[in-house]
Amino acid sequence: MPFSAFSLHPQVARAVADLGYTRPTPIQSQAIPPALAGRDLVACAVTGSGKTAAFALPILHRLATTPGRGLTRVLVLSPTRELAAQIEQTFRDLGRHARVSSAAIFGGVGMGPQEQALRRGVDVIVATPGRLLDHMQNPSFVFPGLEVLVLDEADRMLDMGFLPDVKRVLKRLPVRRQTLLFSATMPDAIAALAKEMLREPIRVEADRPSTTAKGVTHAAYPVASELKSALLVELMKRGTIGSVIAFTRTKHRANRLADYLTRNGIGAERIHGNRSQAQRTQALAGFKAGKFPVLVATDIAARGIDVEALSHVVNFDVPASPEDYVHRVGRTARAEQKGDAFVFVSPEEEADVRGIERALGQRLPRVTVEGFDYARRAAEKLEIPLHQRLAEHRARQKPRAAQGPRPGAPRPHAAHASHRSASGGSHPAPPAHKPHGPGRRRGSRRPFRVASTQS
Ligand code: AMP
Repeated sequence: MPFSAFSLHPQVARAVADLGYTRPTPIQSQAIPPALAGRDLVACAVTGSGKTAAFALPILHRLATTPGRGLTRVLVLSPTRELAAQIEQTFRDLGRHARVSSAAIFGGVGMGPQEQALRRGVDVIVATPGRLLDHMQNPSFVFPGLEVLVLDEADRMLDMGFLPDVKRVLKRLPVRRQTLLFSATMPDAIAALAKEMLREPIRVEADRPSTTAKGVTHAAYPVASELKSALLVELMKRGTIGSVIAFTRTKHRANRLADYLTRNGIGAERIHGNRSQAQRTQALAGFKAGKFPVLVATDIAARGIDVEALSHVVNFDVPASPEDYVHRVGRTARAEQKGDAFVFVSPEEEADVRGIERALGQRLPRVTVEGFDYARRAAEKLEIPLHQRLAEHRARQKPRAAQGPRPGAPRPHAAHASHRSASGGSHPAPPAHKPHGPGRRRGSRRPFRVASTQS
C-alpha cells in the first residue's frame, strides 16, 4: 500500500516524501486509517516500528485540514525527556509544510520558555507527565482546546511509576477528544486504563507484543564479567561493530566503561540519569553526528533515542527484564532496516538470558570471538567491591598515619573533586555517613572520601 492511499493533506504528504518514506510500515498501515476517521486507538507497537509517524501523520492531517482557535490542540505524553524531544522533532519534520507549531515540555530545563509555549497555545505539546503537572498548577494551562491526546510507550510510564501522574493529568483534560494509546506490551494496568479512558477503541497490533523489530540479528557473547570491556574494545577494533549504543546496568558502570573505552582509543560518551539535560543532549547530538562511535547508556536515559542507521546495540550487561531487552534492541534496525543486537553474558547472568530467550521465542546463538584471550586477567575491574576499596585504602593509610601528614600533600577532598570532574561527576556518593564499626572518630569522613577516588 503506498502512502497516497491515505489521502493525507498535500502539505503532510509532501513532508512524508521529503523524509524519503516510500511505503507505510505495518503499524502505520493499520493505525492511520482509523485514526484519520477520528477513532480512539489502542496500538501495540514496539520501538522502531514507525509508531511515532503512525500517530503523528493522522494528527497533522487534522491540523492541516481544520483551522485552530489559537489554543493547543494536541497533547502527547511520553515517559522520558529524550523520547519527548524525539517525538517533537518528528512533528516538526512531518509538520513543516503545514506550519504546525510544537513544543516539548520536560524537567531538567527552565520552566520559562515552556510556560511561554503553553501561553501561546502552540498546536502540539509533547510532555513528560511530571513537568506537565508542575505547569498545570496554573489553572490557565489545562488545554481547553484539546482535540487529541496521545499516550506513548504507556507500559514504560507504568514501569517508571508515572501512572498516578498520568491519571492526574487525564482527570484535568477535556473529555471530548480523540485518544491514541501506544504501548509495546499490554500489562493489565494499561489495559484497565485504556478501558477507562478510551471510547470504543480500535485495537491494532503490528507485531506480537514483546517481540523486537524484524531485521535484528541477535547474538550472545559469553564472557567473564571483568573481560566485558576488553571484549567490546576488541570487537570495535576489529570493525565487527561500527556505531553502537552500549547499555550498562548502572550509571557507575556507564561512567567506567566510557572512561575505559576512551583510554583505549575509542571515542565514547555517556548518558544517564546523573547527567544534566544539556550534557545528555550534547552527547546524543555528538553521537548522531558521528563524532564518536560509542554511546554508553543506562536504560532510562536511552529511552526513545532514535539514531538513523545504528548498526549495533550491545547489551553490555544483561537487562533485568525481557521488556528492557525489547526496548534496548528497538534502538537498532528501526523501521525494518537491519541491525545486530549483541548481549555480553557473564556466567552469573545466564539465567536472565534464558528469560529473554523465552520471551523472544528463540535461542540466542552463542558466539566466541576467535583470537580473543578469554583466559587473561582483566587489567582493571569496572567495579571494585566496597570492602576491597576500604581494605586497600586502609593499607595505604597505615604507613602514612605512622609518618604523619606529608608537607604539601594534596588535600583529600581536592583529589575527590578532580576525580568527579574527570568522570562527569556522577560517581555514587561515598558512604561517609555509614558508621563502619567500633572506633569511628568524629570527622572520620576523610578516609572514605579518599577511598572513593579508587572506585
Ligand atoms: P519510531 O518507531 O517511531 O521510533 O520510528 C523509527 C524510525 O523509522 C524513525 O527513524 C523514523 O523516521 C523511521 N520511519 C518511520 N516511518 C517510516 C517509513 N514509513 N519508512 C521509512 N522509515 C520510517
